[in-house]
Amino acid sequence: MEEEILPDYESSEDENPTNGDNKVATSTTAVHESGFADFLLKNEILRAIADCGFEHPSAVQHECIPAALLGTDLICQAKSGMGKTAVFVLSILHLIEKEGKGIVALVITHTRELAYQILEEFNRFTKYLPHLKAKVVYGGVPIQQDKKDFAESMPQILIGTPGRVLHLANEKIVSFSNVKYFILDECDQMLEELKMRKDIQEIFKFTPHTKQVMMFSATLSDDVRAVCKRFMHNPREIYINDKAKLTLDGLQQFYVNLTEEQKTRKLISLLDVLEFNQVVIFVSSVDRAQVLNELLINEKFPSIATHSKLKQEQRIDQYKNFKKFGARILVSTNMYGRGVDFERVNVVFNYDMPHNEVTYLHRVGRAGRFGTKGIAISFVSSDEDREVMENVRKQFVVKLPELPDELDCSTYMT
Ligand code: AMP
Repeated sequence: MEEEILPDYESSEDENPTNGDNKVATSTTAVHESGFADFLLKNEILRAIADCGFEHPSAVQHECIPAALLGTDLICQAKSGMGKTAVFVLSILHLIEKEGKGIVALVITHTRELAYQILEEFNRFTKYLPHLKAKVVYGGVPIQQDKKDFAESMPQILIGTPGRVLHLANEKIVSFSNVKYFILDECDQMLEELKMRKDIQEIFKFTPHTKQVMMFSATLSDDVRAVCKRFMHNPREIYINDKAKLTLDGLQQFYVNLTEEQKTRKLISLLDVLEFNQVVIFVSSVDRAQVLNELLINEKFPSIATHSKLKQEQRIDQYKNFKKFGARILVSTNMYGRGVDFERVNVVFNYDMPHNEVTYLHRVGRAGRFGTKGIAISFVSSDEDREVMENVRKQFVVKLPELPDELDCSTYMT
């Protein structure tokens, strides 16, 4: 491992100036007219794409897949829910060689549920590539179990959360010396949080000097972008839509002014009148998630709750249950604020307003994914909430008006 390529976080000012040619900002329409066949992907992958019902690449796929296939390091910022996962899943599956020994691709993300979701994406697209195996690792599973799994069969693709991936490397349970593709999904979340950033730096040191690094998020501040670049060589930076246009086109956003005491009654009355396929309700703490969920169940709403205090298997079970439409309402902490993809969610509530505009943007992006319609309703009950709302309006140039008395359901039901 050569020292000079190690990420170093001491000086943040003097970044490698990015070659202007390497920066692409585009506001192409959500779905591109070209076909996946234009990427010249392996036939086995094209067949799996067809089985998934994907007709055309989305804008992010159109811009990023060709760059990824060329082996370029990549920073990609694009709206949430527009198919970023398939960018790295399809590219890796195309690039990975048949005879690849040991772990060739390493994908790291911040929550267990998102890691599991990415595994499922790899599984979907390896349907006709049975020799390629992916495995997911995260905390909460006994390390002995992982050890046993690796001893039985070594995958070429490993997806995991930072802590467990580092643990496996430190304990020499797996080797990352053959890694050719290093991916961070929701990279800003991980690089902003000190503990995760440290873990990622450590993991990075276990991988070879020469590899392709790709990072993805809907939100990337200038500071984090500079940090991302420290892991890369002359990366191509792709921005689909500029920062101001990051909210989803099919998503309507409203606020309701009320007191803390009025929140539950208002929520229930809205759940009674709104048409919904599935709803996610965000609250600010584990306790509030549990209490609100029980309250909704008492009121005969088909609700479940998920949060970090559930046992590991319960967390993934809740994820699977909601994904397959086993419940219509999910009460969650911020744990589901990013990345997780529930196709049928068309209503999001911020029962408790998040603390900043970035978290707001990710949360509301759970509805209106991939060109569908949706509605996000935020309860505003304090000056701090109002300030966040103002920042959302400013940063993302959205109107965010007060919720009207009546809403035409065709505007938020696909
Ligand atoms: P992601 O942003 O990666 O979480 O993807 C959001 C949703 O869009 C997922 O349900 C994907 O299966 C779906 N999706 C991704 N790419 C396409 C595509 N080209 N056509 C149709 N659906 C897609």
